[in-house]
Amino acid sequence: MEGDKKRFALALIYHPDFSLHGYPALRDRVAPAFEELKARGLLDLDTVEVLEAEPADASLVERLHSPSHIQSVINSGYYDVALLSAGSVLQGAVEAAAGGAANSFCFVGAAGHHASHDGFWGFCYLNDVAIAIAYLRDVINIKRFAIVDIDPHFGDGTRDIIGPDPDILHVNFHSGYGMSREEGPNNLDIILPHDADDDRFLAGVDEALQAVRDFEHGLLFIIFGHDSHSDDYGAFELSDEVYAVFARKVKELFPQRVCYVLSGGANARVARRAIGDVVEVLAH
Ligand SMILES: [Zn+2]
Repeated sequence: MEGDKKRFALALIYHPDFSLHGYPALRDRVAPAFEELKARGLLDLDTVEVLEAEPADASLVERLHSPSHIQSVINSGYYDVALLSAGSVLQGAVEAAAGGAANSFCFVGAAGHHASHDGFWGFCYLNDVAIAIAYLRDVINIKRFAIVDIDPHFGDGTRDIIGPDPDILHVNFHSGYGMSREEGPNNLDIILPHDADDDRFLAGVDEALQAVRDFEHGLLFIIFGHDSHSDDYGAFELSDEVYAVFARKVKELFPQRVCYVLSGGANARVARRAIGDVVEVLAH
């Protein structure tokens, strides 16, 4: 796609409801991270477009999740924010795949990678990335996708829905906990020790990106959880510095058509630093 002229370096998708009505463990980091982007001047750059998220169409959700699943999400009280989160990812995916931005970063109020066809857990309700893929396949005619999930929890919901699909590469970082071993043709697990440090993680990133390079795809999703930080709640013991290094590695190999999807993480200080650093890499 050399020579593809994009107007913006980055599309940033956001909605204030993510911090007002998001899942409690996830929502307190959202507004501080967005404020951090403002404080760094990143939202004023003419290379950055900021879009307000709109809810995903319910008919798309019905294609990916069973009626009983959807009813359970409605009963949970998080259906609206989950729909808005899925809409954010859908907009970001469209912008990076066929819109005016080289790459995108999508805020959410509920995560997606533990939402399977017929079940959900772990602050996830609707599988935002699977919904975006279904839409892009229909509307933009992109068939093949790569997903690199660096949230340290196993993305069992994503594996359930897209694992058997030969046209999607699913690379999943995790520490082994709660892992399903059903492997499809294009599934790669990067299993790291629970206390993996930056060096172990970045070696895994090199392996993941090599797999993405070898897989012809129209859009790369990064499922971005900063719960991998030593001060946050998930596995791995990553430092403040690692997320910028990660984003630069991705950008070096894939300068465009990358959609970052916010995932796990609760610590507002970590979110400011991690999201701020990633957006800074993408914004220039
Ligand atoms: Zn996680």
